[in-house]
Amino acid sequence: MPDQLPPMAPLASRWRKLAETTCREKSERLTPARLAVYAELLACTNPVSAYELIALLESRQNRKIAPLTVYRQLDFLMRIGLVHRLQSTHAYMVCSHPDHVHESQFLLCSACGSVDEVEANGLEKLLTQIADEHGFKSDNVVVEVKGLCIDCAKQEQA
Ligand SMILES: [Zn+2]
Ligand SMILES: [Zn+2]
Repeated sequence: MPDQLPPMAPLASRWRKLAETTCREKSERLTPARLAVYAELLACTNPVSAYELIALLESRQNRKIAPLTVYRQLDFLMRIGLVHRLQSTHAYMVCSHPDHVHESQFLLCSACGSVDEVEANGLEKLLTQIADEHGFKSDNVVVEVKGLCIDCAKQEQA
């Protein structure tokens, strides 16, 4: 039986095209199940944990899903750059600009849970250099800034 499309979160054609192009460029296959995970993540306002994501997928598809399957799909989506995983919260989110190679830094709002992906190119290099100067061999540079987003900061002031 061919891959059947599972019930899926609505996916704007712009994002679908992007996912398809990304997979084609990397000679990877975008299976319906992978696409469904991507669509579900896109439908989430804020980053979600793997377990939250599994629950969402299960309720949408009305069936039990093995966590390992979803982890594999998430690993795939991260590998091709469509999804990021936040190190401090272990939550997953969709990359906001997967069309080009980039460094990602994240602004995490501790009030509403929103996360903004920002690009400060050169920052990772700088931090690697600083580590180097201390004789520290870094293999993973992560920048996640915690605080209040613009809306929550305004509310705090009001
Ligand atoms: Zn990104
Ligand atoms: Zn906020």
